[in-house]
Amino acid sequence: MPGKDAGEPQAGCLRSSNMKRKILIVILGLIVLSQIPFAYRRYRLRRLRNAIQQLAAQRVPPAAENEYTDYKGVIHVHSSLGGHSTGTFAELIAAAKANQLDFVIMTEHPQAEFDTAAMTLNGTHAGVLFINGNEVASADGDRLLLIPGNTDPAFLNARKTQDIIKEQKADGGLAFITYPAESRNWQSTAASGVEVYNLFTNARQINPVVMFFDGLWSYRSYPDLMFANFFTRPNENLKLWDEAITSHRTFVAIAGNDAHSNVGLSLNDASGQQWLGVKLDPYERSFRVVRTHMLIKKTETLTRETLLAALSQGHCYVSFDIFADPSGFSFDAENLVTVEYPHATMGDWLPSFGQTRLVAKAPLNCRFVLYRDGIEIDQKAGTAVEFLATRPGRYRVEAYLDMLPSPASGKPWIISNPIYLEPILTWTPAKSARNPSKQAS
Ligand SMILES: [Zn+2]
Repeated sequence: MPGKDAGEPQAGCLRSSNMKRKILIVILGLIVLSQIPFAYRRYRLRRLRNAIQQLAAQRVPPAAENEYTDYKGVIHVHSSLGGHSTGTFAELIAAAKANQLDFVIMTEHPQAEFDTAAMTLNGTHAGVLFINGNEVASADGDRLLLIPGNTDPAFLNARKTQDIIKEQKADGGLAFITYPAESRNWQSTAASGVEVYNLFTNARQINPVVMFFDGLWSYRSYPDLMFANFFTRPNENLKLWDEAITSHRTFVAIAGNDAHSNVGLSLNDASGQQWLGVKLDPYERSFRVVRTHMLIKKTETLTRETLLAALSQGHCYVSFDIFADPSGFSFDAENLVTVEYPHATMGDWLPSFGQTRLVAKAPLNCRFVLYRDGIEIDQKAGTAVEFLATRPGRYRVEAYLDMLPSPASGKPWIISNPIYLEPILTWTPAKSARNPSKQAS
């Protein structure tokens, strides 16, 4: 019968379009559901932004009796000179200025045909002190930051880590280990110090799918704070560094911005005109997130020499400035025999005699966690706290802003360099003496 014959395919069509509609509804439902976590993450960033603004209003300026001036800057920065980066000098200078940085330490990748350390930013530009360095690989597979840069870095990757360090130090320069977790031999070298936090390494751990949806939801309103979503305490690096300072000698901790300004996408037409450009790691953002702060005596000014001297002595600390400006933070020690250093500070060696007062101060109420030889031994909250040390060891503090909500809660704000308390029998004033780095090219 014709009616029945025509009706069956019609009913089949209806069934299949109903099915398609249902599938579509289910898919749309799943898409909506999948976005709930990202909407919540956007809400968390708004809450964090508000808390950061409240904190900024509570900040107490550093006390006038502090004998050091706090200079903020960034270390481990690349430009297009060394490849892998699209950053220009003009962008770099503008970003440093926008962040009111006092210094920028450049670490260009070497090139076979020209000397990138000689060609990169050096000297004072727009009121910011630039120092020309290199990042090189050794034959042992270590990566080093040479500050200032070595004039022949293109040949260095055929040489052993220890030889590079020796030569760099003989020239009055500094050699820092970068990516310490990827190489385990550096602890026995004579390196000046180690990068305990690397922003690029941390950012590489982001899941790209999560980053994409976080970007859709949060990038427009909170581009800088998206950092807090992936920021983690660098446990592995800190553990390795604690082992290194405990076992023998000074290893200065620094933060590496490892700023390349090369992560993102752009769409250009044939003439080179850019139609769409999104950069996830512009210098200006990288320079705002994490910094190394240098302490230079108030009787001196910031110059290339005083900066390199402070860096070699470990008179510095690492801070995640995106959460709050730590300028004025101090961690000092005092005991009966500190004749040479009435107020020993981070990086200094002093004899352990009786009780040593360890005083930590910050411009905001925070929780100071005290570590001795890598082991957490005490915690105190306030803007100025005192710990008593009765035995030798490497003492350092980390500061936490407990009033910050997630995703920043429980993550460090400040990581200090240690005060080295030596057994009185092995301590000599000579051990504390430092050779300020001489001026180099
Ligand atoms: Zn690098």
